[in-house]
Amino acid sequence: MSLVTVEDAEVVYHRRGQAVRAVAGASLTVERGEVVGLVGESGCGKSTLAKAILGLVPLAAGSVHFEGEPVVPLGRGPRSRSLRGMQMVFQDPYSSLNPRRRVGDQIADGIELGTDDPPRAAERRTLVGELLERVGLPPEFARRYPHEFSGGQRQRIAIARALAARPRLIVADEAISALDVSAQASIANLLASLVADLDMGLLFISHDLGIVRQLSDRIAVMYLGEVVETGPAEDVWARSAHPYGRALIGAIPSVSNRGLPDDLPGDVPDPAAPPTGCRFHPRCPRAFEPCAGEVPALLEVVPGHRAACHLHTRGVPVTAAVASPDS
Ligand code: SF4
Ligand code: MG
Repeated sequence: MSLVTVEDAEVVYHRRGQAVRAVAGASLTVERGEVVGLVGESGCGKSTLAKAILGLVPLAAGSVHFEGEPVVPLGRGPRSRSLRGMQMVFQDPYSSLNPRRRVGDQIADGIELGTDDPPRAAERRTLVGELLERVGLPPEFARRYPHEFSGGQRQRIAIARALAARPRLIVADEAISALDVSAQASIANLLASLVADLDMGLLFISHDLGIVRQLSDRIAVMYLGEVVETGPAEDVWARSAHPYGRALIGAIPSVSNRGLPDDLPGDVPDPAAPPTGCRFHPRCPRAFEPCAGEVPALLEVVPGHRAACHLHTRGVPVTAAVASPDS
């Protein structure tokens, strides 16, 4: 049983009387001990999919299961106990911590969230100290306030608070984007080592494909509300099976990447009026006859590596037109 199983999930929101399918039939799994990197341009529905997994937005169709239990969105009946098992680390460590409370108290909130039997004060202090050490900070920091820390330290505190609830899944949505470059690498490495040590799953959403590659066991590529490719990280890197995945990866300069494809024409279309057929077809350099009319299914191309592209069903190779990212 997978830790997280998302099947054909749809999330619809309403904008000026229009229904917008921000997530339009996305499927994904996360296993214990696994880092899944979720990539795609802004506006592709990555954050919305993450919120659906956490039960923060309702599904219009499809399903999300966590440890085999259906995720019940907030406000739709009693929150399932297992949902405590999921924690989120946000982009902005400056606004995710309360400036007026000591960080130790904020970490202690996480401890209470994760148990029906909250520890007494002395034990709680010990636990808070251990959590701070776990994220590389001295236990004495518990008495300080958020403004006394750098961005990287605050993100460590936010991670300690998330860990306090004893999650089995952490969702990190652009959790390193607001940090300086050296803090980015150390926070990414911290998350990866926690996942390995604590046998958690990590859904790591980032624009920085260089770090995603380093960190992830598997990569899922989203485009306009759909997961269009998923597979082992190195496999997706070396042999992306989707023209959009290839465009993303081909856009990476050799060192680290902050941006997204320059060579892709146009922007992500408005999800309120998505293109017919393959949603990528107006921008796809490989688009051919079936693409505007038929929706491609997400199919296994080689074991463990799936892609939604007509090139595969029509037996056309997704050729090595994109430069090797290693060159
Ligand atoms: Fe491009 Fe067609 Fe494949 Fe879509 S289905 S990615 S338009 S080749
Ligand atoms: Mg986002």
